[in-house]
Amino acid sequence: MMSVTTVFAAARSRAHGPTAALWHAVEVHRPAAEVDGACELTVCGTLARVSPGEQWPVRATDVCPACVSLAR
Ligand SMILES: [Zn+2]
Repeated sequence: MMSVTTVFAAARSRAHGPTAALWHAVEVHRPAAEVDGACELTVCGTLARVSPGEQWPVRATDVCPACVSLAR
């Protein structure tokens, strides 16, 4: 039986108009190497590029508040 673990990767969105770039969480069900640099749908419903060098939760101040409450 496979164990199902929810793992979150840190992803960086792009600045869009008045919205600053933020760190988001992406739910991943595959090895981190496979989501390397990919654009994924975050748990708050936006698109962001996964940063394999970062781990969720990110130690940053510019973190998406919706993702913080959803991904934990
Ligand atoms: Zn978010």
